[in-house]
Amino acid sequence: MIALTFDDGPKVSVTDRILDSLQANGGRATFFMVGSNVNANAGIIKRMVAQGCEVANHTHDHKYISKLSADGIISQIGSTNQKIEAICGVSPVLMRHPGGNRGMSAIMWSIDTRDWQHRNAQRTIDTVLSQVRDGDIILMHDIYSTSADAAVVLIPELTARGYQLVTVSELAAYRGGA
Ligand code: ZN
Repeated sequence: MIALTFDDGPKVSVTDRILDSLQANGGRATFFMVGSNVNANAGIIKRMVAQGCEVANHTHDHKYISKLSADGIISQIGSTNQKIEAICGVSPVLMRHPGGNRGMSAIMWSIDTRDWQHRNAQRTIDTVLSQVRDGDIILMHDIYSTSADAAVVLIPELTARGYQLVTVSELAAYRGGA
């Protein structure tokens, strides 16, 4: 099992391509989205849920938790959960970025593609395929077209290699919890 995770979106031109590929290959992924992107992307967020993907919290304004007050953290996390739930009826149970908060699990990763930095699809593909093992959580970002270029190659290739593409919560559930 592999958990593909995509941060910082949604962005329709990128995220839709990833969802198309997941749908075609019977896979799922987890999307750690920023709250400020939620209301303008209602359709794609509903599509994530309809396909069994996991909607998750990446703060409202991509804030570093360590630089916020307690009230600021509650606001950044809470407002994002509220917006996502209002759109699709699902309140996220996972967040990415550290912080003491209200029963949510903070999710890191085991393969960092650094896709945001090099913006090179082949490099992202090579990074994943050279390292991937059962149980990995793979970090990508669904705001760059080069990341979608990589995802639409990786999703069928990982599936062909026998990996099930599951959400982070599913991976945790099958492995004894987060
Ligand atoms: Zn981010």
